Amino acid sequence: MSDSKGQKYKSLVIRNVTVVNGRGTPAQSPVDIAIEKDKITGVVSVSPGAASRPGYKRPEGDMEIDAAGMYALPGLVDMHVHVPFRETQCGPRGPEYAYKLFLAHGVTTIRTCGFGTDEKLIEHRRLGMANKMVTPRIVVMGTTGEITTADEGREAVHKLNKLGTDGIKMIPRSNITAEILAAMGEEVRDLDMKAGIAVHIPQSSELDAVSASEAVPDYLTLEHTYGIPQAAIPGSQSIPPDYNYSDEVDRFRWSGHVWTEADQYPDNVLWVLDTMIENGTVWNPTMTVYEINREYELPNRWRWLDRYTAPGLLESWRPDPARHATYHFNWRTADEVAWKRKYQIWMRYLKAFADRGGIVTAGTDCGFMYTLYGFSIVRELELLQEAGFHPLDVVKIATTNATASMGLDHLAGGVQKGFTADIAVVDGNPLDNFKVMYGTGVTKYSEDRTRMVQGGGVKWTIKAGILYDAKALLRDAEEYVTELKG
Ligand SMILES: [Zn+2]
Repeated sequence: MSDSKGQKYKSLVIRNVTVVNGRGTPAQSPVDIAIEKDKITGVVSVSPGAASRPGYKRPEGDMEIDAAGMYALPGLVDMHVHVPFRETQCGPRGPEYAYKLFLAHGVTTIRTCGFGTDEKLIEHRRLGMANKMVTPRIVVMGTTGEITTADEGREAVHKLNKLGTDGIKMIPRSNITAEILAAMGEEVRDLDMKAGIAVHIPQSSELDAVSASEAVPDYLTLEHTYGIPQAAIPGSQSIPPDYNYSDEVDRFRWSGHVWTEADQYPDNVLWVLDTMIENGTVWNPTMTVYEINREYELPNRWRWLDRYTAPGLLESWRPDPARHATYHFNWRTADEVAWKRKYQIWMRYLKAFADRGGIVTAGTDCGFMYTLYGFSIVRELELLQEAGFHPLDVVKIATTNATASMGLDHLAGGVQKGFTADIAVVDGNPLDNFKVMYGTGVTKYSEDRTRMVQGGGVKWTIKAGILYDAKALLRDAEEYVTELKG
């Protein structure tokens, strides 16, 4: 893998670009974005009207990029990431490979969700911010050992805070009660851990979206979708008598029916969503990670799959009863049909959640089930659009909603004067087609209508004012994959 680095300039100007500020308001063009050190110091219109005003002056910089025809948006935030430390999956430089793929897709912040890698991630967070390692901004959600009492819960939070994690990631075991979770929530609040607690409520837990939300007001993010339909269904989900939670085929097969059943009680679902909204619970749906459940062959059509996936990682996604999340043996038409229905209902309520005032973010769970670093967040944007969100709102969800939810106030204004410069410059218009953000870009018909041409992709990624050549990072990652293939 070559070593493309980030460059820091005293002043940097992105010229003639169309800006999408990430706050849900319309695009503006053309503008110059001026950056000094790590701050945006101006977003200046360069339209003929603006230029004719007295005293008008275009910003100047030590480094200037001409981005005519390109779009600048806030750097994307992937809210659910597993950085690959296991050499069997991504080789000896797995984390760097993943970080480069993130930055190559305009991802400037990742929120890591474990497991057991907190110390290494804290070190990468430090090196990345000092520009000594190529990384996006890393928000570390620490993972705890086993907890059986409220005091142990408090102690575990305290320990992670001392270690330096930004928040906590939990998959509560069946013995974690609402009281234990509430104690941990209080500790997180007292210690001002702004990234809060991200909880994936397994079906084996007695907790659901309502009890978890009430236990940890204002500091909870609900991962995936577990716990929401469960809270709406009176009693248990109608699983068959021979259902075995430990059998992942069973678990995921019947998970395909849970939203359909909950949808028989729409008032209950809305009550669950409203309870989450009242308690300030954020919903991070990670739709992309389950997508193969609705269409198992889908990844085989993704152009990037072989080219950019480390061979060991690709191997780890193949059906295998001995591993987690590789249950697709005998995955049937009926299972795909159930999941297709599930997605429709899930998406409808996700949209309803946002329409009623709830905060949605974008995450991928990348590293699992064909979700490749960087590529998968673009896929999540497409799925959010499929859920009914306007592309401007999709960008807001994947940028300023996320940064605000983690207390990163210096980023929550998006691409605006006075905020930190985390920006993705895209060759094309993502509002028209999110596919332009994939590293593999899009195939277009040439303007003279004589041939097909390749375009798109993120061109530049800026993190805290550090400029990265996104295409060079992508080439590094590809080279690394080729090396690993041997
Ligand atoms: Zn995960």
